[in-house]
Amino acid sequence: MADGAYTNLELSTALRRARLTGRDAAFVTELVSGTTRWQGRYDPIIALASGRDVSRIDPAVLDTLRLGAHQLLGMRVPEHAAVGETVALARAVNGIGASTLVNAVLRRISERTLEAWLEETVPAEPLTARLAVLQSHPEWIVKALRQALIGHGAADPQSADTELERLLVTNNEPPTVHLVARPGLGAEEDLRDAGAEEYAVAPTAWTLAGGDPGRISAVRDGRAAVQDAGSQLVALALAAAPVVGQAQADGGSGAGERWLDLCAGPGGKAGLLAALALQQGADLVANEVSPHRAELVRSTLAAAAARAEAVGGTLEVRVGDGRELGESEPGTYSRVLVDAPCTGLGALRRRPEARWRRQPSDLAALGPLQRELLQSALDATAPGGVVAYATCSPHLAETTFVVGDVLKRRSDVEVLDARELVRGRDGEPLADLGEGPYVQLWPHMHGTDGMFVALLRRIEGVS
Ligand code: SAM
Repeated sequence: MADGAYTNLELSTALRRARLTGRDAAFVTELVSGTTRWQGRYDPIIALASGRDVSRIDPAVLDTLRLGAHQLLGMRVPEHAAVGETVALARAVNGIGASTLVNAVLRRISERTLEAWLEETVPAEPLTARLAVLQSHPEWIVKALRQALIGHGAADPQSADTELERLLVTNNEPPTVHLVARPGLGAEEDLRDAGAEEYAVAPTAWTLAGGDPGRISAVRDGRAAVQDAGSQLVALALAAAPVVGQAQADGGSGAGERWLDLCAGPGGKAGLLAALALQQGADLVANEVSPHRAELVRSTLAAAAARAEAVGGTLEVRVGDGRELGESEPGTYSRVLVDAPCTGLGALRRRPEARWRRQPSDLAALGPLQRELLQSALDATAPGGVVAYATCSPHLAETTFVVGDVLKRRSDVEVLDARELVRGRDGEPLADLGEGPYVQLWPHMHGTDGMFVALLRRIEGVS
């Protein structure tokens, strides 16, 4: 993983190439994902057992040691197999000299249980340093998540430590598979037949306990898709938000409205928005700066596009810089989604390597882009229309600070209470949505990714 690969993508390619299926594939998946996810816990153990800081171990040898440590401490692989196989691997890929080190370190690690090692390696305090090792997250992320829990009103300083630990524990658990039944496209029966069950968190959400979603015909043809329920809630909230005045094309029914997804790739939310737009008689433009990702949007929208053709609706996919759209098409759209590029700190469960890849400096690079995209979205919105600013990160620098800064510079925006529009399958607002007016979802509270959404309405007659 030291070469920057994405675990999930590399794994599925490697499994296919090696023709591994069933239990063998599950074993390799756990070996790779677990090793990557838990390296913050294993590295101090490797350091203690080898008598040197891990920064002084060759990165490829360190990866081998982590694989061995995970088999010994995190999987129930018998000791002789874990050590023997990992040393053989070291001999093959790291060289004879390195394999001697690997053998010695793994034998030392095998002498104690995980609990015994953690007693030595986990610092007593501060709590953020303690949780960083125990729950295997970089400490800067632990601190940022703690601030976010308090800043979004999900915890007070007294309950923050407990909530933080619950969140980090959840980040280490593989998420349940959520599916979206894109409304009006007739996916529900297929999902039910495939054993999927309705999920209470969002009206369009389903869960699948096991099996490959790709075998479901509705998923194959795009009437349904794998999509986190939190992402579904963002699109649903935007489609349900009350637009008024000029943005309201036909008495507010949605008919005749123009909708925009400003940064749509790869198209998950655009897929749901397109289905909702068709149902309401609105048109949708899905814009994306990367041509490759715009292609992905096109294929995600295929089922909705076929339906649009049948009913005379318009779905358009465009390649363009969203920052320029406000100027080129001012006051045009009734509903605009800005699902901004972000650190993804709310979706750490999904990508075991993501927490190690991200750096605090990413925030500085993303901040100006997030602000410019939101400004442009507001400019592109017709008076009375609504913008949803969303991130799959609860980091305050990407959420409330961005919205706050943009609002400071404008007098033509009112903030809607997004909690009113984030509703479950029963039609009621979800519980634990904080003090508003923004909504921050949490993996450990809502069972979704940590999506943030702010709903902003452009006020009529104020420029
Ligand atoms: N809404 C998408 C979904 O649900 O599948 C995810 C959007 S992703 C968080 C952000 C997207 O913004 C990326 O595809 C990225 O390429 C795109 N992006 C980055 N800068 C952009 C820009 N200046 N204009 C338009 N899109 C941009």
